[in-house]
Amino acid sequence: MQSIDTLISARWIIPVNDARETLENHSIAIDQGVIVAILPNAKAAQEYQASHSIDLGDQALIPGFVNTHGHAAMAIFRGMADDLELMTWLNDHVFPAENKWVDYDLVRDGTELATAEMLRSGTTTFSDNYFFPDASAESVLKAGMRAQLCFPTIDFPTAWGAGPDEHIDNGLKVMATYAGHSHIKVNFGPHAPYTCSDEPLLRIKALAEEHGVGIQMHVHETQVEVDGELERRGQRPIRRLKDLGLLSPNFQAVHMTALSEEDINDIVETGAHVMHCPESNLKLASGFCPVHELQKRGVNVALGTDGAASNNDLDMLGEMRTAAMLAKAVSGDATALSAYDAIKMATLNGAKALGWDKEIGSLEVGKRADITAIALNDLESQPIYDPVSHIVYASTRDQVTNVWVDGKQLLNNRELTTLDKNTIIETAKQWRDKIVKG
Ligand SMILES: [Zn+2]
Repeated sequence: MQSIDTLISARWIIPVNDARETLENHSIAIDQGVIVAILPNAKAAQEYQASHSIDLGDQALIPGFVNTHGHAAMAIFRGMADDLELMTWLNDHVFPAENKWVDYDLVRDGTELATAEMLRSGTTTFSDNYFFPDASAESVLKAGMRAQLCFPTIDFPTAWGAGPDEHIDNGLKVMATYAGHSHIKVNFGPHAPYTCSDEPLLRIKALAEEHGVGIQMHVHETQVEVDGELERRGQRPIRRLKDLGLLSPNFQAVHMTALSEEDINDIVETGAHVMHCPESNLKLASGFCPVHELQKRGVNVALGTDGAASNNDLDMLGEMRTAAMLAKAVSGDATALSAYDAIKMATLNGAKALGWDKEIGSLEVGKRADITAIALNDLESQPIYDPVSHIVYASTRDQVTNVWVDGKQLLNNRELTTLDKNTIIETAKQWRDKIVKG
């Protein structure tokens, strides 16, 4: 018998592997944060002596969700301004609120609220794009999650710096602090083509190559953006980014609506990743990302919630369901984005886009034990022909029971183990009171 730290058994395991299999009555053996075996329960009992053995019964284990786009601290602004189109929402509400209120403390507290919500909906890794990434990092480490923190660069002054050069200089300091960190990657996050001029983008491209890190940017969020850029610069945003040399397998393009054939060709040619945020796109009436078409062309499409101010939740189960439904509606093809592919998009594709697929994104021997358990034992899940179908089409985040990162349990029967729920609720209320008073 081999001694290990943890043995988790469940009725179903969906590893998200090339075989697209669903394992029944299997266990995951974990030692020192790594998956050392996935094997039938009876065999696991013979081969492993675990310090902690957990039998989850009629639950499904999947890889922890990878939420590839968001602005975690904006959880503090959840529900502050709704039912507005993107530019009104941004210029009249979000940017003024950010200029007035965003500081280190708001980012730390807002990110903590977001990490708690994400853990309670099965997310173990997320990508963030916000000011004061050092404050976000503090909350990510406290929660025990993984995050890609893309520091924003934008042509105008923000709470975090006087302009693009200062944003980049500030970001490089945070990048140096977390160089080589197992849970935090600091990458570039230029805001969008319409808010970033050529000079900072070229500086970012050179620095990203020098440091071997990624770039994430909002691109083609709306038709209005594309039309505006055509008028201003005589070029579609994607072609401009390609000409500037930014598009590559290290580039993560968020949103990607209003795509022409030419735009899709540029993405295919350069190997850039697409971050699809269906609920944010729907809520802001931004447009539709042609997910089915992109996948047919071999583009890696990952999934993101965007910030809680434009979604308004950070729920990857809900996002998967919306993505699967929307792909069918947009393509006019009910076979588009199957339930299995939706789970893959929310896990392995995300890990790939963030350059973390050697470590996470699927349940495989040798990968870190980042695992989410979803209960399928209650009335709403009966009867079960295919757990994959139920997870995507008939489950809600309340069914997420347990979450592990590196084999460490961060959610235990829906209770957070690293964060204090009541304190987080109180702190969020205090920010609301302060913001409402003005
Ligand atoms: Zn965004």
